[in-house]
Amino acid sequence: MGWDAKFASRAERMRASEIRELLKLLDQPDIISFAGGIPDPALFPDAAFRAAYQDALTTANAGAALQYSISEGFPPLRRWLVGEMAKIGVPCGIDNIVITSGSQQALDYLGKLLLSPGDTALVTWPTYLGALQAFNAYEPRYDRLNPAQGNLTPAAYAEAAGQAGGRVKLAYLTPDFANPTGETLDRAARERVLDLADELDIAVIEDQAYQALRYDGEPVPAILALDIARKGHIDATRTIYCGSFSKTLAPGLRVGWVCAAAPVITKLVLMKQAADLHSPSINQMAMHHVAEHAFADQVAKIRAAYRHRRDRMLAALDRHMPEGVAWSRPEGGMFIWVTLPEGMDGASLLARAIETERVAFVPGSAFHADGSGTNTIRLNFSLAGDAAIDEGIMRLGRLIGASRRA
Ligand code: PMP
Repeated sequence: MGWDAKFASRAERMRASEIRELLKLLDQPDIISFAGGIPDPALFPDAAFRAAYQDALTTANAGAALQYSISEGFPPLRRWLVGEMAKIGVPCGIDNIVITSGSQQALDYLGKLLLSPGDTALVTWPTYLGALQAFNAYEPRYDRLNPAQGNLTPAAYAEAAGQAGGRVKLAYLTPDFANPTGETLDRAARERVLDLADELDIAVIEDQAYQALRYDGEPVPAILALDIARKGHIDATRTIYCGSFSKTLAPGLRVGWVCAAAPVITKLVLMKQAADLHSPSINQMAMHHVAEHAFADQVAKIRAAYRHRRDRMLAALDRHMPEGVAWSRPEGGMFIWVTLPEGMDGASLLARAIETERVAFVPGSAFHADGSGTNTIRLNFSLAGDAAIDEGIMRLGRLIGASRRA
């Protein structure tokens, strides 16, 4: 069977990258990996989840926990989220929230909802790889959003999109502790994104997967909060906020949410119905139980642990990186972004790092829609312990120093 000829055109960009192949080697126990982007399982609130699932399976609750439920999501969980959104300056109602299977599903639905083939999505260079993968299925072209250093004019974006045969439809960004850079946009840059979106009359997708993981510095208002301040009410806004329990409580249950204007939520609910009917009832009930009983304590616990690891990695980078290497100093999240000396290639460095130093990371070009950024790499600090951080960064510094001299 010649499958390639049978696939739809949207399948063309669905390819495993070389990097993914390299990263398969990471199961080997002697490798120190800074490659993953995952929470430390030792910090999961497993006792709280045990109690939550037990509660969901009592005689009184099991019927609902094991039954089909509504596509919008478990109402008590959505009500809890209404309270959380209010705390970050987003007054909204239960009809402004839909539960998704992780925020990754929200990105897929939003690509499906907003992008026709040939339309333009504005993304930062670099951006979250999973967003590119989600949007790629809807066959967009990408243009560069650059809120920190300067966006193009609205007319320039619109003209380029028109020449490519479509329209600019959305801007996607991770304003807090971005994956992969760790960087946070200040308020002025967020306002500039809204100015641009207002001029172009496009949607803004605000991916806030890491928002709760702030280790120092002052919180910056969410773009949705700034949009509500402009327009007076969430139902008049253009910002679609994607939230997730994956980095705070646990990713395995696959529970995230979208908070946006009611007409957007109505469409997403219809899409959810068509795709998977609803997110698992029992997982939503368990997540609600743990959120109610343990959210604040859990967030405090992981913030303290990850802050320590970030500081440990920054100190190790200070000690071991040769001249000509620069890195971000994130105020939260899970990642440090390293810029290698000009001309050094992150992907070939990874191949050598695995082979000779038994240390791994993700090359930065994977996060660039245009494949640029070849001299950058992403380091994760949420998973490794102190000794592994010290040793791994020492080895990496040694390799980069040797590569420079070579
Ligand atoms: N957005 C960003 C920026 C992420 O880093 C991730 C997970 N790596 C996601 C969305 C998806 O997370 P989830 O589907 O688990 O909510």
